This record gives sequence, C-alpha cells and structure tokens, in this order.
Amino acid sequence: MDKTFDIKNYIRPNIRDLKPYRSARDDFDTGILLDANENSMGAPYSEAHGLNRYPSPYQKELKARIAEWRGVQEHNIFVGVGSDEAIDLLFRIFCEPGKDRIITTPPTYGMYKVSAAINDVAVNEVLMTEDLNLDVEAILENTSPQTKLIFVCSPNNPTGNVIDQKDIQKLLENFSGIIVIDEAYIDFSDTDSWASKVNDYPNLVVLQTMSKSFGLAGIRLGMAFASKEIINYMTKVKAPYNVNVLTSRYALKAFDYIDQINENISALKEERKRLRKALSGLNAISKIFPSEANFLLVRVDNAKSVYEKLASKGVIVRYRGNEPRCESCLRITVGTPEENNKLIETLQKILS
Ligand code: PMP
Repeated sequence: MDKTFDIKNYIRPNIRDLKPYRSARDDFDTGILLDANENSMGAPYSEAHGLNRYPSPYQKELKARIAEWRGVQEHNIFVGVGSDEAIDLLFRIFCEPGKDRIITTPPTYGMYKVSAAINDVAVNEVLMTEDLNLDVEAILENTSPQTKLIFVCSPNNPTGNVIDQKDIQKLLENFSGIIVIDEAYIDFSDTDSWASKVNDYPNLVVLQTMSKSFGLAGIRLGMAFASKEIINYMTKVKAPYNVNVLTSRYALKAFDYIDQINENISALKEERKRLRKALSGLNAISKIFPSEANFLLVRVDNAKSVYEKLASKGVIVRYRGNEPRCESCLRITVGTPEENNKLIETLQKILS
C-alpha cells in the first residue's frame, strides 16, 4: 500500500462532511434522566425492567471484552446488527451510488451483491480459480478509480476454504481501495484472523460475527475491525442505538462462556470430520470440498432432486448448484451428532 494512502480521499464527501446525530446520552448518562423522552414510568412488565431506557450508543463494555478476546484496541472495533449491517455501512461510506463499483469473487456470500444493488453500486465479478483461490491478476486488472471495495470471504461461503494469505496480502498492497475480509467462519478454521493486522494496513476491514462460532445468530451482533479512522466513520454513520440492550447483555455474557464456545467449536470440527468421512462413502457424491467452516460443500449427482427429496424427509440443506464452480452442489451445515446421523441415513436411502 502506497505510504501516502489517506483514507479521507476514499470517503464519500457527504459522509466526510456529515455532522452525526447527537444522542441525548452523549453528554450525561446518569442522574434523573429527563433528556431522551423515554417512558419515566418504566417498562410494562417485570421481565422488561430497565428496557424503558435506550442502549448506549458506544457499547464501551462490549468493545472492551471484544478487544481483550481478539487482541485489538477498542478504537479498532465497530459493533452492529450482524455483519450485514457493517457490509451495508461500508457501501454507504465508500461508494457513490450510480458511480462507484465493487469487486466480488464468485462463488461467494450473496449479501455483497444484494447490498451493492440496494446502494445502486455496480459489481464486477471476478471468478475464483478452479482451485477456489483468488485470481489476483484478474482482480487487479478489473479495478478502476471507481472501484472502492473488494470483498474477500475467508473461509469462503459456500465453498468452505480459506483464501491464500499471500494473495490477500498482494491485494492489500496493490489495490488502492478498501479490502474487506469477511471472517464470519474464522473460528472454525486453523488459520489466523486478519483482525490484528488492521493497524498495518489502512485499507483493511475485517468482518466477524457472533452468529456462527458463538452460537448467537438470534441476537444479531456483528463486528468490524479496522483502522481508528474507518471505525470512526462507521460509528458516525450508524443509527445511534443500533445495538440494543438485550443484544449487548447477551453478547457480553458470552465472554463468560468462552470455554463452552471453544468446546462447541471443537465438537463441530470433529463432526465435520466424521461427516466428511461418512459422505465420502457414498458413490453419488463425487466431491467434498475442503472446509474450514461449519459446513461442507458436496457435489452430488442430481443435486436439485436430492435437495428436494431431503427436504421432503425433513432434512433441509442448501442447493448451491446455480453458483459458478458449484455445479450440482449442496451446502450442508454440520449439525449435532444426531442430526448428522439422520442426514447420512436419509442420504444413503435417497442415493441407494
Ligand atoms: N458473512 C458470511 C460469509 C456469512 O455466511 C454470513 C451469514 N450467513 C454473514 C456474513 C452474516 O452474518 P451476520 O449474521 O453477522 O449478519
């Protein structure tokens, strides 16, 4: 990356000049709180005690726990409503609608394209190589001054493989725009996170989530790690109270259960191995892609019909056969041992 890289030059001018909404709690958050038009009589039932109050716009306590867990500083962390909120914010901060572009590398997570369409931003799709790595040369050739973001998903959804670290580094060093590394599945992998590198690369944003390894998809808590400057812009643009009281309470509590989270991760990795072995014994399955995530992508004869038959027997997987390089493929989330046994049994019957 060019030493003169100045993030300000990449921010949409309206965002650079934006005066953020000042919430009532910016100045005081204790005392007789008559500043935010909350309901002073309280919540209507006892389980909701305290929820008559708005949440903190800053989430300092939660960021402190995340910082300690990931070994980064609090000012390098954004928290939001799933990583999907962070993805959308990056478009709003960096991409001028109707003018700017992004690059994605299919097959990959579908939300980048959807978020681009919502924000009226064009997408250049640069197909992954046959071995499901980045085609770095083609990506760089496809960039233009209007290319503001490149999304790299690692481990990749739907294929499950980790993207070569050297290729990512090449992009970080040669693309003068933002590289977003989506690490939703990183805790299921044996590869290091890029989160600790955000101060080495001013154009790096790393996305993570509590939806996968933490087992808390229902609370909608996503994280972005980036330079202090980028995090400041994300904080400026987000809705003031984006992370609600219940979400931050449940997210904070999760850090008291890191041992349990790690145990669940180990159990899922063991099941991933067992599932791979069992599936490899089925003749109709011609390929099981290498996976460092909590799912397996498998190529199976007549995938669409297998998908439908599985569903009719109550086992729901994802058909991914319409994605390039995933022809005739199903994506199967690793379940509990009992769920995996049922899947294997049902598949054996369907494919016999
Ligand atoms: N990134 C990837 C690669 C995903 O697969 C998903 C969810 N399927 C997300 C992000 C969304 O995560 P969240 O639940 O935090 O919005």
